[in-house]
Amino acid sequence: MNNTALAHVVSQSEHDVSRDNISKNALKVLDRLNEAGFESYLVGGGVRDLLLGRRPKDFDVSTNASPEEVKEIFKNCRIIGRRFRLAHVVFGRDIIEVATFRAAHSEGEGGVTGDTGRIVRDNVYGGTVADDAARRDFTVNALYYNIADATVLDFYHGIEDLRNGELKFIGDAEARVVEDPVRALRAARFAAKLDFTVAADVAAAIDQYHFKLADIPSARMFDEVLKLLQSGHGVASLDWLRKLDLLQYLFPAADSRLKQGDEKAEHMLLLALQNTDNRISNDLAVTPAFIYAVFLWLDIAELADKIESSGHPPVQALHMAADEIVPAQLKRTSLPRRYSVPMREIWTLQPRFKRTQGKRAKLLIGNPRFRAGYDFLCLRAQIGEVAQSLCDTWEKLQQTPEAQAAIAASRQRSRPVRRTRGKPKRKPQA
Ligand code: ATP
Ligand code: MG
Repeated sequence: MNNTALAHVVSQSEHDVSRDNISKNALKVLDRLNEAGFESYLVGGGVRDLLLGRRPKDFDVSTNASPEEVKEIFKNCRIIGRRFRLAHVVFGRDIIEVATFRAAHSEGEGGVTGDTGRIVRDNVYGGTVADDAARRDFTVNALYYNIADATVLDFYHGIEDLRNGELKFIGDAEARVVEDPVRALRAARFAAKLDFTVAADVAAAIDQYHFKLADIPSARMFDEVLKLLQSGHGVASLDWLRKLDLLQYLFPAADSRLKQGDEKAEHMLLLALQNTDNRISNDLAVTPAFIYAVFLWLDIAELADKIESSGHPPVQALHMAADEIVPAQLKRTSLPRRYSVPMREIWTLQPRFKRTQGKRAKLLIGNPRFRAGYDFLCLRAQIGEVAQSLCDTWEKLQQTPEAQAAIAASRQRSRPVRRTRGKPKRKPQA
């Protein structure tokens, strides 16, 4: 059976995707797979975003070549993933993700569904592009651009849904959420990023089965946190996470504050996410350490206050509060040490900002985490936790040439922090 016959074939004159808008590296991958006799398509966000006239974040390729066959064609290729094996073709910092068409299968070798109905492995190759389309999440994510003839294959009315700005699952909505509950988070993310509505059956399925997100490994949840809150649409993502009642699986403490109408929490989260969104649109660096520091802060501060009033010094109280609160959070959404250490430092620097004169103040400016701590202080000033004048004073203090030199020196010193723990100093990290 020729499965592509099932697709609506959109010819070049009817769509706006063209080679000119696709990255050189993605084109290279597509061309070389075709030359080697394989089928290959651009798929996913790349096609979707081009059809919407947006600049894609990355380009994903889908092919009938197995990951091993892809590796034979590209020297710069590594195979990743267990649950879902993929080939990554690496061009310096640019990575083209190449997924192999999976065959439709029931239980069996390479494909495993857990007792809960969740797909735990999906590695049966030998499928067609139609099979591949059937296992993608949303109709707008299952559009395939073929560079060989410049057509777009549309199996599930994805183009119509793009036009209507609606997120619809392919197939039965409930089944799609049960198979992979992370799709609920993806719905929130795409609704936010694309400014789409969520189809009623998608919202209903999410409502019924979001509890299954509690079983997703914390490392995968961390990846989703980054995509939701650190991709330039953090404010809108938080909004959708709340609408779909999914925030509880990411930041339970913040979620219950928002549900209780805690205005300070609301204000702080919105300011921080707005700031993150602005930084991303200006190509400035952002870090999960800051986001996590914000989402946990009110609980940390509250507990630290209690501990302090029982006689502990402020910094120690913050450490003790963190020891109690952070592990529970990391069970939900993990946070690599390279972020969790600076997150705690952002908190423990706060009491030190009270002193604006003398040697200690100077030392603080030279702290590698000074800038993040200062930004956090200003955020606290905006929600009325500390005086704005304190933030202004520190703004002035860091402008002196002496302070600038200290900040530059601390940047130099802080570099080796990224070294893997336990490695000898003289051995630079690759
Ligand atoms: P972005 O612009 O954020 O990269 P994207 O749609 O490309 O958005 P990716 O996470 O890069 O999202 O995934 C690429 C494609 O792989 C998706 O468009 C979708 O077709 C498919 N996909 C990814 N994750 C899933 C999933 N959990 N279930 C089904 N299909 C998925
Ligand atoms: Mg993508």
